[in-house]
Amino acid sequence: IFKGYIDGIPKETDMEVKVAGSSRTAKERPKGALLVKNLYLSCDPYMRGRMRQFHDSYIPPFVPGSVIEGFGVSRVVHSDNPNFKTGDIVTGMTGWEEYSLIQEPQRLRKIQQDDDIPHSYYVGLLGMPGFTAYAGFYEVCAPNKGDCVFVSAASGAVGQLVGQLAKLHGCYVVGSAGTDQKVELVKNKFGFDEAFNYKEEPDLDAALKRYFPQGIDIYFDNVGGAMLDAALGNMRVHGRIAICGMVSEQNLFKPQGIHNLFHLISKRVTMRGFLQSDYLHLFPRFLEDVISYYKQGKIVYIEDMSQGLESAPAALAGLYSGKNVGKQVVCVACD
Ligand code: NDP
Repeated sequence: IFKGYIDGIPKETDMEVKVAGSSRTAKERPKGALLVKNLYLSCDPYMRGRMRQFHDSYIPPFVPGSVIEGFGVSRVVHSDNPNFKTGDIVTGMTGWEEYSLIQEPQRLRKIQQDDDIPHSYYVGLLGMPGFTAYAGFYEVCAPNKGDCVFVSAASGAVGQLVGQLAKLHGCYVVGSAGTDQKVELVKNKFGFDEAFNYKEEPDLDAALKRYFPQGIDIYFDNVGGAMLDAALGNMRVHGRIAICGMVSEQNLFKPQGIHNLFHLISKRVTMRGFLQSDYLHLFPRFLEDVISYYKQGKIVYIEDMSQGLESAPAALAGLYSGKNVGKQVVCVACD
């Protein structure tokens, strides 16, 4: 349950777990609804935006006292809808609860069962974060073979795939992450050319100059703030910056200032914000491509799986201090 609107960094205590049964009988279910058992829930940084009462975001705030909603993977346990049957595995918006009544099943997608692909990947590699990486990299960054690519939050749900797609495209790729363990993963598991722990770099500008002596062609920005400023100062002529997320700023009442915007002019850099939802026409191609890369062993994906619904508040709060190593998922009822 979402307790109420917050300031600052989300805490575990901003949410609470309640035991409650459904008061509805089967006969009272709305026509066409689905009853689902939730298997996996996704923790995503955008959820912080829904904990704020007044904002001009692209998604409405959570309702205090109500069940939190988010992306999930669920099994249909009862269907009054001809398009779904009991046992189907579906993905889409669901509640942070053991069972959810889905009143708009048209917003769910059926998952093709495939023994080689874990169901939880449908909120990560093959869900919204993976698609963000795919659409952002190919459509916003306009990559060329040989480009020098920088990715922040490189070990996370989005970042780990951006870097691997960039490597497959023939780019030189460097990632930043917040612990040595993550840096190790970025280099040795995801195959980036280089990675560094930004928390141990006293001067981000100097760090970027070290890894990109000739400058950056593409910056895939997951964090905003000081890292964006440093990247702006190191862009190459005609570079591209994809503004994907601002996780370093979204808890701040007053965002930090950016000083290096002049480089957009002198280097003729394109900086573009994007929402994955603007590219949904590419979703079928994304699934086909990424499933194929995965099955050929060309990409890997790391999840951070917390166990049990009661672990969800801490798992969500952990995103904002970098506790998650890889895509943060909550297993409610692992299959
Ligand atoms: P991650 O799995 O990368 O988790 C968040 C990570 O952000 C943390 O692990 C941490 O990594 C880093 N972080 C947390 N606080 C800070 C901080 N103050 N400064 C710098 N880094 C911080 O999340 P996702 O991959 O799911 O999301 C990455 C970004 O993409 C987010 O900004 C998100 O909002 C955005 N996004 C945008 C979408 C779009 O359509 N535009 C869609 C989906 C996501 P570390 O330890 O390395 O610091």
